[in-house]
Amino acid sequence: MIGSIKDCALLNNGLEMPWLGFGVYQINDGQEVVQAVRNALEIGYRSIDTATVYGNEQGVGKAIRESGIPRENIFLTTKVWNNDQRGERTLAAFEESLKRLETEYVDLYLVHWPVKGCYQETWRAMEKIYQSGRAKAIGVSNFLVHHLEDILRDSQIVPSVNQVEFHPFLVQPELLRFCQNHKIQVEAWSPLMQGKIVTEQVVQKLAENYHKTPAQIVLRWNLQHKVVTIPKSIRSNRIAENTQIFDFELSQADMNVLDALNEGKRVGPDPDSFDF
Ligand code: NAD
Repeated sequence: MIGSIKDCALLNNGLEMPWLGFGVYQINDGQEVVQAVRNALEIGYRSIDTATVYGNEQGVGKAIRESGIPRENIFLTTKVWNNDQRGERTLAAFEESLKRLETEYVDLYLVHWPVKGCYQETWRAMEKIYQSGRAKAIGVSNFLVHHLEDILRDSQIVPSVNQVEFHPFLVQPELLRFCQNHKIQVEAWSPLMQGKIVTEQVVQKLAENYHKTPAQIVLRWNLQHKVVTIPKSIRSNRIAENTQIFDFELSQADMNVLDALNEGKRVGPDPDSFDF
């Protein structure tokens, strides 16, 4: 059982990644993100998920430095944006991210979306970055099975992580199985459906039964699926609430109840029809 905020998934290259991280999408750069990340680090999160396109790498870097927590005790993820997959920009974009984050390395560098006609070339650049030692692991995001098959076919390094939209209304069991079979760690984005999941009656009923909140039920469901999860909030009470998921366990029957909500429903874009 995953029983503590310190518990980690073991990635396919031996790196440890916390099961619970803090997402910073739609948090403004500057004071807002600095405050939120410092708050999360004080509460005990040790993994932060940002991206070039969020525009807040600078603030994330500042918060990490100001926290006084040694850099090596924090798992930091950022991502290469779609424009930077064109025109051999990936290596330069990585350098720019490091500069904004004011760090020597990231723990995980992800290809943000499988940009058609580009992602295989991008992966070759990612492999170079990994070999340089300045990304301790490399992975992808929003890759479906066919995208992963393309990568596995002609590359040296198997992605360590696939970060995808994942919540009870979008389970993607085949994608999960494929990733598990290839030792690619699945990571959930929008695990709370951007907040919408907490009003779902089935989830509310389970919350009552377990004396937990709806968000905690869904985040625990992530963990029991062996999916890394990175909920976002700027409110300190919710940032804390989202960590109280290590002291209970959902029964298999209740896992099944949540699984049964699956409708293949997305709150974000579909990777096959995204306008890159
Ligand atoms: P989320 O599912 O984490 O939802 C966040 C929202 O849920 C908050 O803004 C708040 O309104 C609400 N919320 C948070 N905690 C709550 C609680 N305890 N009770 C009630 N409501 C609560 O959505 P997200 O921010 O889209 O996803 C999480 C992270 O995933 C992002 O911050 C980002 O780091 C990452 N992400 C990645 C991609 C990608 O393409 N790779 C896309 C979207 C998000």
